[in-house]
Amino acid sequence: MFSSWISWFLSSKGNEYFCEVDEDFILDRFNLTGLNNEVANYSQALDLITDNLDDDIQDSLRGSLDVQARLLYGLIHARWIVTARGLAKMIEKYKRADFGRCPRVLCNSQALLPVGLTDIPYEKSVKLYCGRCEDLYSPKSSRHGSIDGAYFGTTFPHLLFLVYPNLIPPKNGPADFGGPPNSLGGAGGVGSGVGGVGGAGDAGRIRRNRIREEPEPSEGGGDQIVTSNVALKADRYRPKIYGFQVHEIAKLQRWQEAVRDRQVSRLEALEEAKKM
Ligand SMILES: [Zn+2]
Repeated sequence: MFSSWISWFLSSKGNEYFCEVDEDFILDRFNLTGLNNEVANYSQALDLITDNLDDDIQDSLRGSLDVQARLLYGLIHARWIVTARGLAKMIEKYKRADFGRCPRVLCNSQALLPVGLTDIPYEKSVKLYCGRCEDLYSPKSSRHGSIDGAYFGTTFPHLLFLVYPNLIPPKNGPADFGGPPNSLGGAGGVGSGVGGVGGAGDAGRIRRNRIREEPEPSEGGGDQIVTSNVALKADRYRPKIYGFQVHEIAKLQRWQEAVRDRQVSRLEALEEAKKM
């Protein structure tokens, strides 16, 4: 019934990463808490998304409202895809490799998942997370490369793997689902992946240009690239769920702190006993 704006949005070119947000999720105002502060003309934008906008308003405001409606849908989408039903919808897209495949040869065309580097809109564009090499890549197409990362959020892929540990890809061997249908060099398909996001510096720029010019699957084989520079300058990506780190080192650090705290309280107890 009301999903005509949404189906138009989803079918528009460049919006292939988005899934359909259920209408009862949008209609439950609790799910939209705080978004009225993020989106100008919030109520009209919401009316536009839900196809309830008055026709007379539509003519005068239409242009700017469309921008606000996209922003609102994106922010709702980020909240939706970390719900049980939202995760299930994104898994369908993941299994179809709608988000592309990892350009790293040893990842065997592993399907990617979208992720934001920040949950604040208008700051960083969407990146693609490979569950196998645990690195980030930029989307191949510029249409996808300009999508706001906040529309997917920093939590989504990691929560997906937390809830569905069976979907965590193996570290080696063929991809779980939808490997390239007998295509040679399929790993090059995603193309201009940029290993290590942010602060890649000159070496990173050279590498990026090189990949754009000759989209071959192998990385780091060129003459003018000093691999150590790239490695030193690239920030390591740290998966987070609602801001909490989830990688092994974080687990180790939590364990180390717990051991330390236990030891401290044991010492404190000994001191107390000595005083008595
Ligand atoms: Zn990978």
